[in-house]
Amino acid sequence: MSAPLIITDCPRPRRAVADDFAPLLGDFDLDAFDKHDATIFGLDSDLRLAYFNEAWVRFACENEGTVDLVDPSKALESPVLRGITPDLRPFYRDAFRSVLDEQKVWDHTYDCSSPTTVRFFHVEVLPLHDPATDKRGLLMVNSFTEPIGPFPIRTPNPQPNPKNYISTEGFLTECSHCRRFRRVDRPEQWDWLPEYINNPPRPVSHGLCIVCLEYYYPR
Ligand SMILES: [Zn+2]
Repeated sequence: MSAPLIITDCPRPRRAVADDFAPLLGDFDLDAFDKHDATIFGLDSDLRLAYFNEAWVRFACENEGTVDLVDPSKALESPVLRGITPDLRPFYRDAFRSVLDEQKVWDHTYDCSSPTTVRFFHVEVLPLHDPATDKRGLLMVNSFTEPIGPFPIRTPNPQPNPKNYISTEGFLTECSHCRRFRRVDRPEQWDWLPEYINNPPRPVSHGLCIVCLEYYYPR
């Protein structure tokens, strides 16, 4: 087997959806998901990649991903667990399976540092179900948590930079459902800041991030 090709020319970011997964995405506003800085993607009930938004392509390009990740003809229907380090596969397989079976939201924070940057991500996994066909799937929303900095800043309890989240009126805006906080410099981006949930540095006003708006309040 030849080595996978690293992306050298980043393609124009475009979302992709597998045909048989489209009904599960129903009335979601996929244009709005493309404006989101978070990578948002879908898995079918066999845990194969079935949808990704534009941020997925940007992330793969910025992180020396392989061509197979962004070429829909290769990426769609590929098993996602293959991209996870073998030691962690059983953990994620069991977690994804239980979201599919029990239809309950699951979330998890993980370390995804690159060789030069400390990064933590927070993934929220939302169950999808099409009552007409009884098909199931998963919608995954991956967002950054602060801080994003160079090595060797590694701390188990990272502190976000408040100026990224406090509005000129002095408020934080938190999503009522997933509890992510809205950035003021990029209002389409909502980050996972566990320190702020119990100890917000300013008064909190509540809103809905685009994913929760679409997921919990479909039109
Ligand atoms: Zn939300």
